[in-house]
Amino acid sequence: MLLKNKVIIITGASKGLGVAMAEVCAQQGARVVMAARSKGLLEELESKIKKAGGEALSVICDVSKPADLKHLVESAVDAFGRIDGLINNAGVNYVKSALEVTEEEWDRVMAVDLKGSFFLTQLCARQMLKQKDPGGSIVQIASVHTHASLEGAAPYDAAKCGMVGFSKAVAVELADKGVRVNVLSPGLCRTEIWKDIVAAAPSESECWDYWNANIPAKKLIEPEEIANACLFLLSDLSSSITGANLMADHGMTSLLVSREPYASKSIEGG
Ligand code: NAP
Repeated sequence: MLLKNKVIIITGASKGLGVAMAEVCAQQGARVVMAARSKGLLEELESKIKKAGGEALSVICDVSKPADLKHLVESAVDAFGRIDGLINNAGVNYVKSALEVTEEEWDRVMAVDLKGSFFLTQLCARQMLKQKDPGGSIVQIASVHTHASLEGAAPYDAAKCGMVGFSKAVAVELADKGVRVNVLSPGLCRTEIWKDIVAAAPSESECWDYWNANIPAKKLIEPEEIANACLFLLSDLSSSITGANLMADHGMTSLLVSREPYASKSIEGG
């Protein structure tokens, strides 16, 4: 078991990728502290994990509220005595032309995706440094949008790139104290967002043809694949890695253009 008895906080654990993260961490022996606003969904997941023999605690938390973040960290320490890992996964994906974005909309995305992640990182890192055997691993869930963009994504991209920026700074600051901080940037995953994309397309097959041309592996990322990448970053398997921004994207951000319409000449002239 890669996370035996490790106490791991996971935000946004009520839906999508966060559910898979909680389940995978619990299967690997972690005591998972799951945070989100949806009480019913969190409690359902908590009882599922407990029925499977795992240890879990759900905490209602709006990550944009500093008092909620403090309560989350205190609840984790009260229940399990320490914190070994954090996945800052809660996020809102906001799409609107940069020319139309209001100050309120900008602030809302920043409050959840960037400010919440930073201050929860700060609270967890303080706890990780003051406990017996100081150290820990913090994972920020950003996006392929930290590498390249799409139309209408300005606040989201600013927030996700901000996560990369502060993570590098905190990684450098805490590297010699045993706390590692990394970013994991997923590509297109099989979650609600995929359902929304399909719903907005003329047909599922046209939608899929388009994405096939833009994802070298020609497949969606399953939530468990992102959870497994988190597992790697949380565990000692990644002990030399800090300050990284790892793309989990089936090759999407390595692709220059979707298709080359004309065959290039070989350099050898053949
Ligand atoms: P999702 O299905 O929309 O779930 C988002 C989670 O964040 C939910 O559990 C939600 O819980 C929580 N959340 C939202 N606002 C919150 C707040 N103010 N306080 C606490 N929790 C909050 O999203 P997802 O697709 O699983 O994505 C998870 C993360 O991966 C996000 O950061 C997203 O940007 C990133 N990502 C996803 C994809 C993808 O293809 N799915 C690709 C790249 C990056 P409540 O509503 O219960 O609070």
